[in-house]
Amino acid sequence: MSLSIKKGDMVEIRSGKHRGKTGKILKVLCEENSVLIEKLNLVKRHSRPTKSLPQGGIVEKEGSIHYSNVLLLCPKCKRGVRTTSKILGDGSKVRVCRKCKELIDKG
Ligand SMILES: [Zn+2]
Repeated sequence: MSLSIKKGDMVEIRSGKHRGKTGKILKVLCEENSVLIEKLNLVKRHSRPTKSLPQGGIVEKEGSIHYSNVLLLCPKCKRGVRTTSKILGDGSKVRVCRKCKELIDKG
């Protein structure tokens, strides 16, 4: 799978109950074709007691969202957009907003 989304990217969710929300990619789960987004799609999980949580209990963790449900956030359009990739003069590959042609990867 070649994903145009990677860890640290800002994305917008485009479907489901979190539609329209934006967040930062915590992790890309390649095998599941899905991503974890910081503080979004939280699901409750029971956890075993640990040092910081001696009684164990319920913790909230990010649940995965299929990558087809998220779009990379364009800093200029301020919304999720489809991207294309472009090879720069130095050989590096960058993602470009299809709408405004802004480079999404900088530096
Ligand atoms: Zn744009």
